[in-house]
Amino acid sequence: MPGYEFFGEAERKEVNEVLETGILMRYGFDGPRKGKWKAKELEEAICKTFGSKYAQLVSSGTAALTTAMSALGIGYGDEVIMPSFTFVASFEAVLSVGAVPVMVDIDESLTLDPAAVRNAITPKTKCIMPVHMCGSMADLEALQQICKEHKLILLEDACQSIGGTYKGRYLGTIGDAGTFSFDFVKTITCAEGGVVMSNREDVFIASDGYSDHGHDHKGVDRGADLHPFIGYNFRISELHAAVGLAQIKKLDQFLAIQKKNHQALKDMLSQIPGVSFRKIHDEAGDSCTFLSWFLPTEEATRAVVSKLKEQGILAGNFYWYDNNWHYIRKWDHLKTSATLNPLHPELKTAVMHHATKDFSASDAIMSCCVSTAIGLMWTPEQLKTKGEQLAGVIREVLSMQPATV
Ligand SMILES: *Cc1c(COP(=O)(O)O)cnc(C)c1O
Repeated sequence: MPGYEFFGEAERKEVNEVLETGILMRYGFDGPRKGKWKAKELEEAICKTFGSKYAQLVSSGTAALTTAMSALGIGYGDEVIMPSFTFVASFEAVLSVGAVPVMVDIDESLTLDPAAVRNAITPKTKCIMPVHMCGSMADLEALQQICKEHKLILLEDACQSIGGTYKGRYLGTIGDAGTFSFDFVKTITCAEGGVVMSNREDVFIASDGYSDHGHDHKGVDRGADLHPFIGYNFRISELHAAVGLAQIKKLDQFLAIQKKNHQALKDMLSQIPGVSFRKIHDEAGDSCTFLSWFLPTEEATRAVVSKLKEQGILAGNFYWYDNNWHYIRKWDHLKTSATLNPLHPELKTAVMHHATKDFSASDAIMSCCVSTAIGLMWTPEQLKTKGEQLAGVIREVLSMQPATV
């Protein structure tokens, strides 16, 4: 699943090239850097690999979302519709630009339910932000249609689905903008890093300046740059970009292994009556970082999770329903608006509204869902053992459950 599993010689070589020049910053120092421009090179590789017209590297996936939202003009008074199941970074970024995160239900695809999105649209809605969770895609066709009808921005949080596609196009390159994260546990890593991708030149120019204090990058040197608008510092370093440059060259290899292991595990679990799988809107485009499966009831799912724990084989199996970071049920800090600095009262009220909002449709899905992370380093024997152990526990639990259908 994560690229760090394959950290090695190639990454060290790229990093060492930067260490040899000592120019760790991505901008300026044209002479001493001796032709080494790792961040620029990685941006070009991202454009080429994923078919995006523009790419702006930044310091994290969260910074990429914040940068993209700013570049798209999302801010005070705007509502951003996003799913109840995502990593906390998605709403952190919305809050960071002063906009209102509006969480809505997901469906069996573990991504935004288009019907729930429609129901949440108000005159203040500015953007729909699908999150392509656990390696696979939201229903982009339906969401694009809604965006078109209501003149909304489509921003893809593709941080977790690098290399996934939808109808032949890479996730993250289909909306007005899209983001990847290159943090340490993502499909490819820079240690820390992220990227904003867009086919819109205006979004790119804004992202480029915003992530570097508003520099227009048109001066003869940094001091001579102009600042047409206020930005921040979300720059990536050359060291981080160097790691990513080695990793992106391995992406095809990572994806091939994931797909193979995912299929093998799915074949084993699909033989068990009562096990069903996440809906995938375009099977061919699943990046296969996880195999997400459902049991018929919350009770059975909890029983499987506790048995896996008892047997010491829970690692790599994620029961998001109880997880502090990925599902709204445990986001008490959001529901109580526990920010360090005061929010605008209107924004605070809108944020706290999530405490009493009905997410029973999401609960029904998430309480029965487990995602199994697909390892890159599994040997065929390990894969077989993992699958057999998992299948054994599921069969045992289901055989003890009263019939539910
Ligand atoms: C990892 C992740 C992010 C944020 O990425 P960081 O690089 O860790 O800041 C945003 N959204 C989702 C869905 C993620 O999984």
